[in-house]
This record gives sequence, C-alpha cells and structure tokens, in this order.
Amino acid sequence: MSTFSHCCESMRIACDDPDYPVVFKAKFREYAIKILDGGISSLVISFCPWSGDRLPESLRDEWFRRLEAQGIDPGEDPVPLEFRSEEWYSN
Ligand SMILES: [Zn+2]
Repeated sequence: MSTFSHCCESMRIACDDPDYPVVFKAKFREYAIKILDGGISSLVISFCPWSGDRLPESLRDEWFRRLEAQGIDPGEDPVPLEFRSEEWYSN
C-alpha cells in the first residue's frame, strides 16, 4: 500500500479500496479512473472528484526517462525496487 499523502480522506479511501474505480499508480504519481470493460485500461484524471483539488502532474514520462538513463528497459529488465513505488520521487 502506498504511503503517498492524498489531497483528502475520500481520495485516500478510494485509492486504498480496489472496489473503487479510482486508482493511484504510486510509481508514476498518477491518478486514473478505471475503464470497466474487463481490461486494464484507465483514464488519467487531473482533479479530485471529491475535493476538486488539482492533482499532482503524472511522472510517467520522467519514470521512463530515468530508467532509460540507467540503461534499463522496463519491458525487458527488472525494475529497481525504488522505481516500483513513490520512493524514487519522494526523497
Ligand atoms: Zn481530494
């Protein structure tokens, strides 16, 4: 479970409960709404549906850039532990 500090209690509850359609992808610092078609698709959201707060910008592109800079292909190579959670951008 992520230790990331969310904008409000409702968001924290939603992100911690797999039955909610809202997901927090900690390694990318990315919030999304699941597409309920049985697949794994989701749509990134920019604002909290409950508090209306602007959510932090996704670090997905930076995540891939940092791994590439280390010569790591996340599709092929093992991803370092700190890049599997919010650890790589939290410190
Ligand atoms: Zn919120």
